[in-house]
Amino acid sequence: PKRILSGIQASGALHLGNYLGALKRFVDIQDEEPFIFVADMHAITVWQDPAVLAQQTREIACAYIAAGLDPKKATIFPQSAVPAHAELAWIFNCVARLGWLDRMTQFKEKSGKHKERSSVGLYTYPVLQAADILLYKATHVPVGEDQKQHLELTRDIAQKFNNDFGAPGGQPAFFPVTEPVIEGPATRVMSLRDGTAKMSKSDPSDASRINLMDDADAIAAKIRKAKTDPEPLPETIEGLAERPEARNLVDIYAALSSSTRAEVIEEFGGKGFGTFKPALAELAVEVMSPIGARMRELTGDPAQIDAILKDGAERARAVADPVVAETKKLVGFWGA
Ligand code: ATP
Ligand code: MG
Repeated sequence: PKRILSGIQASGALHLGNYLGALKRFVDIQDEEPFIFVADMHAITVWQDPAVLAQQTREIACAYIAAGLDPKKATIFPQSAVPAHAELAWIFNCVARLGWLDRMTQFKEKSGKHKERSSVGLYTYPVLQAADILLYKATHVPVGEDQKQHLELTRDIAQKFNNDFGAPGGQPAFFPVTEPVIEGPATRVMSLRDGTAKMSKSDPSDASRINLMDDADAIAAKIRKAKTDPEPLPETIEGLAERPEARNLVDIYAALSSSTRAEVIEEFGGKGFGTFKPALAELAVEVMSPIGARMRELTGDPAQIDAILKDGAERARAVADPVVAETKKLVGFWGA
């Protein structure tokens, strides 16, 4: 059976990349009853202030709902409220090989020059991610392009677990081989300050991203100041090949207007950024500000959000607990 799962880290304010690469796509498939969690255990792989982590977790839940997720269709829950994530992650730590993790580019990027001072959790992050996914036997995971390598690791872990512990004699595999779903014109939204870097929550420059909670003036100002080259937009999409900043803005326009890169170039090819940026700003404000406004409303009612998260956690545990129990039995743990 098809099962969809995804999540977003409670590591700060959500941005346009999260919206186009993840949130919006969760809403598009919500009739398939996805599991959508708030990754607070992933968030603490880098320092998070304990005084604000729970609030950040609620804020991600607010964003899900503000973007249009219906908590009756989607199971929305905090990762840390389902202990089976941590239990399965430990077993997977013993399945995954060091050589596999050594290849992960996100760790290299996030640990930067100070690898030896990074948390061990940042290193094993993709193993916890595999547990998040396989605990629900998820078959489809909608994510941005940056998560492709981690999804491949999830497949490797599932296959090795099935080989090492799966019932012999060609029975159906215990864990499915998960498909990453990386689709649409904005699977990798780039920073507004640097067309070669991904737009990220953890980028220290606020001008690099449009936050979901930014007001109309902030959105317009950030687009006006976005880095570009001096040339007008090209007449064909091939002309965007060597122009990362221009391509990024065109792709954002395409995603926000549910059109394609080619359609945007058809409309704006030959026009300068003096024309294109105001049009993009108007569109971004039109799509984003209602979501921000709704988020502000929802954050004013934490009791309602907590009730949604509590209910989601119960529904998630009902699926996850039997899977982790079965996994422990396959591994051979006492009493399992
Ligand atoms: P952090 O910098 O803390 O890693 P992030 O901005 O990368 O934060 P995540 O919580 O790691 O956000 O990712 C949540 C989802 O958003 C994932 O599916 C990820 O692929 C997607 N995503 C993140 N950044 C972008 C982006 N710039 N463009 C498209 N999708 C993105
Ligand atoms: Mg990330």
